Parts: sequence; structure tokens; C-alpha cells
Amino acid sequence: MKIAVVRESRPGEHRVALVPESCEKLRRAGFGVAIESGAGAAAGYADDAYRSVDAVIETDPQALVQSADILLTVNPPANRDGRSVIDWIRPATIVVGSLMPVRNPRQMEALAERGATAFSTDSIPRTTRAQAMDTLSSMSSISGYKGVLLAAATLPKYLPMLSSAAGTVFPAKVFVIGAAVAGLQALATAKRLGATVSATDVRPEVQEQIESVGAKYVGVELEEDASAGGGYAGELSAEDQQRQREMLVDELARSDVVITTALIGGVFAPKIITAEMVRSMRPGAIIVDLAADGGGNCEVSVPGETVDVAGVRIMAPLNLPATMPEHASLLFSRNLTNFLEAFSSEGTFEVDTEDEIQAGCLITRDDEIVHARTRDALDALVNEAAS
Ligand code: NAD
Repeated sequence: MKIAVVRESRPGEHRVALVPESCEKLRRAGFGVAIESGAGAAAGYADDAYRSVDAVIETDPQALVQSADILLTVNPPANRDGRSVIDWIRPATIVVGSLMPVRNPRQMEALAERGATAFSTDSIPRTTRAQAMDTLSSMSSISGYKGVLLAAATLPKYLPMLSSAAGTVFPAKVFVIGAAVAGLQALATAKRLGATVSATDVRPEVQEQIESVGAKYVGVELEEDASAGGGYAGELSAEDQQRQREMLVDELARSDVVITTALIGGVFAPKIITAEMVRSMRPGAIIVDLAADGGGNCEVSVPGETVDVAGVRIMAPLNLPATMPEHASLLFSRNLTNFLEAFSSEGTFEVDTEDEIQAGCLITRDDEIVHARTRDALDALVNEAAS
């Protein structure tokens, strides 16, 4: 089968779906690989690096997509120069990438209409077997790391304790809300930089993981179980939200840096930090809202921007993995390659809807959206438009 990769078109995107190392692996596994000229340039992977592993370099993206059996992509295929990449896809083309289908139901509908078989690697089940294919984990880890670096570069203080001839300064306090993949990486990074670190989550089972990176766990006694299955959190009841707020007021007032990563079902961001809480924080403190792509955990966050409320800066960066494109692409590419290799023999990918991993992340097939949460998201959009 022929695998194709075109340049990403999302504004600010610098990643590429396949790096030369993976091209070589896939060629050895029997696939043909073709890349649009320049597709890896922004991530540090030049055309020559692809040529050196016998990938074909194409200059015409339309011809490339039209000739592909498998299209690998970082983001959902989108418009380029006013032309939709989706319209170039042939029926039965296999599309694999981080399609974020619940956030992009219209694009999933368009993929279904083209007859594509689309897999979204951010919907891969969170199982041991699937771990090596999980782009959400690789990318969340980068966000957690980069979020702390952004805060450190903006904070008007040192993060570590420092003794000098001019006396001692005490370490900054970093507090993380939501301690799954991004949150744990943020804690570990802040700890390595010398900060005093603590974290909270609504799933009490993460206490041990928080403590394992040297951070203090700050729990809330919840009346209702907030676990929604599969390791994901559900929405808190109004009473539990109030309990969490009471705990947060004190914690935020003590913090120099707050990193928020909380998502419900891995998709939508609950509003956890109110404007009033922000105003009760120390001037100079920083909030980095890593849930900005899902709408943000802080009431005053403006996705993609930094705002100042009473001297507290609230940063809500979008798509942080794209700011570290070389390693983000490398890990993303390895995830996709692991996915393809797991279900292929002699360069042919076998669609197997009985397989737990494929079934979990299959979004469109035979002209239909088969992923229930994406269908619900599309129905909600259609109903909203009708009312
Ligand atoms: P996520 O991005 O969906 O959520 C981030 C964190 O926010 C979660 O820990 C969640 O409990 C927390 N949260 C949600 N609402 C909150 C609130 N109101 N207040 C405070 N915290 C709140 O998480 P993720 O990184 O996608 O991981 C989801 C789960 O999957 C975790 O249990 C993780 O360990 C697990 N996981 C497993 C695998 C695997 O086994 N292959 C891979 C990655 C992640």
C-alpha cells in the first residue's frame, strides 16, 4: 500500500506526521512512502532526509493524496489555498491521525462522505497494548513540560531555592490541577527545576502517582465518584464543585504558578478557576491553562492569548506540541508507525473492526460515522443549527 503525507495546514502547526526514521521502518515493512516536498521542513526534517531513506518526494499535494491508500496526518485534513484536502481523498482510503473527532464532527462527516476509513489516534483505548500508539499521551507529555517552561520564563521569580551572597530566595510554589499525563509531566518538570510542587485531581487513585514524582497531593472529599470509566473523569456535581472551590481558594492564594490540565472524558475543559479566585491570587503569579484547546479551565482564559487580571497573568496557549515540532513529530510518527505495523503484513493494512484498538478509534467507515460520541457531537450541531 502507498502511504502519503502532506504538509499540515492548521495555522501555527509545525509538526509532520511521519519522520524519516519511520519512513524507513514502514518501507522495510513493505509499504511505499511518499511525502509532499517541504512537509517536514518546519519540524527540522528536510526533503533530503526523506530521500535518504527512499521516500518519494512529491510536489503536487492533490496528486499525492489522490494516489494514496493510506493518508497519515497530524490534524484533521483541512483546506489548503481554498481547496479541501478531504475532497482529494479516494473512497476506502485509510486516514490515520489525531482527528479530535468530537471537536471536529463536520470534518468527520466530510471524511465519511468521501468514503474514507478514518482512525483517530486520540481515541485509542488506554490499554497497555495500545500505549505505544497513543498520540494523546505523547503530545500531552510535551504540553505538560512546555507549560512549565513557559511559566518559568514568565514568572518574575526563580523557581528553585537559591543561596547567594545577597541571601537566600525560597523556591516557587507550583500547583497542578488535573494529574494525568500532562499534569504528571508538569509536576516532574517543575520539580526538576527546583520548585515546591503539589497537585489535585478528582480521581483519588492518582494520589500515588502524584507522590511518586515528589509532589504533595491535595485532595477534596467528593460526595459522588468522579470517575467516568477508562481512567477519565466525569463532571462534578454542583455540591462537589463547591467543595473543590473551597479547597482551591487557599491553594491558589499560596501558589506562584498554577498549571491546569483538567478535561472531562478527555475532551472538554470544566471551568475550575473563577475570576474571583484569580483576583485573590498574588500579583505576579502565573496560570498556564493547558486545557485551552478544550475551552480552558479558567473562567478568564482566552484561548491562544495571555491576559492580565489584577497582576496575575493567565496564559492559554494552543497546540503546545507544535512549538516543539522536532520531538513532537518524532513521537507522533512513532505512534502512527506502531499503529500501522500492529495491523499489517507485507505492506498491507488490514481493517479489523473486531480488534479492540481499531474498534475504539475507528471514526468513519462505509460512508458513515461509526464513532458514537462523534455522531452525538454532529447531531448536537445539527440540532443547534435547526433551533
Ligand atoms: P485527561 O486529559 O482526560 O484529564 C486530565 C486530568 O484531569 C485527569 O486526571 C482527570 O481526572 C482530571 N480532572 C478532570 N476534571 C477535573 C476537575 N474538575 N478537577 C481536577 N481534576 C480534574 O487525562 P489523560 O491524560 O487523557 O489520561 C486519562 C486517563 O488515562 C488517566 O487515568 C491516565 O493515567 C490514563 N492513561 C492510560 C494510558 C494507557 O494505559 N495506555 C495512556 C494514557 C493515559
